[in-house]
Amino acid sequence: MKIQIITLFPEMFPGIMDASMLWKAQEQKLLDISYVNLRDFGLGNRKTVDDTPYGGGDGMLLKPEPLFAAVRFAKEQDPDANVMLMTARGARWKQASAQKAADTQTGLIIICGRYEGYDERITSLVDMQVSIGDYVLTGGELPAMVVTDSIVRLIPGVLGGENSAAIESFSDGRTLEFPQYTRPEEFEGMKVPEVLLSGNHAAIEKWRTENSQQADKN
Ligand code: SAM
Repeated sequence: MKIQIITLFPEMFPGIMDASMLWKAQEQKLLDISYVNLRDFGLGNRKTVDDTPYGGGDGMLLKPEPLFAAVRFAKEQDPDANVMLMTARGARWKQASAQKAADTQTGLIIICGRYEGYDERITSLVDMQVSIGDYVLTGGELPAMVVTDSIVRLIPGVLGGENSAAIESFSDGRTLEFPQYTRPEEFEGMKVPEVLLSGNHAAIEKWRTENSQQADKN
């Protein structure tokens, strides 16, 4: 799967993207991730990417010219890619959204907003507007990492045990995973539930079902 991230801060990504499963996915050529530096498309000698909002108000907005040029550049690398804009105003990202993206593995171009946001006209090039939750972050970089991580771990071959994602929290939309334990059987007076040591698979399944909570509908 090819993912291109349009950002003013590409240096934020390697620590997350080049570690653990995301690194493994790249090593195995299951993931091709690259960064498009919005600054490269800035205007004039100063490579300007932002300006004040019409109508007044605090802060700066990402200008349309660099954003359009960066998206068009990314589209040249992957013409069929979906363009995703990170915004607190977007549709809430869910496990089902990640699963759909992992199933199709259609390329993604993710735009990270900054400052007070972006000139609205960029939405004419966007297929999906995505929010990762009801709070405001400083930029779209963390949301882009969250979205990427949630998709890539679902690409077949990335996690190893192919069932590990299928039985996780939210895999059916709202059931949360049951509590899990590992050795030792007793730690600081706290014991592993007897049934998990019993070897009785039916009883273990029953206990796990009974101890799986339902997530909030929201
Ligand atoms: N003025 C904007 C508002 O009130 O919605 C907030 C802008 S925020 C400081 C800068 C950028 O961070 C946004 O353009 C967006 O790309 C990203 N961002 C912030 N919160 C986000 C969220 N919950 N989900 C996705 N992206 C978010």
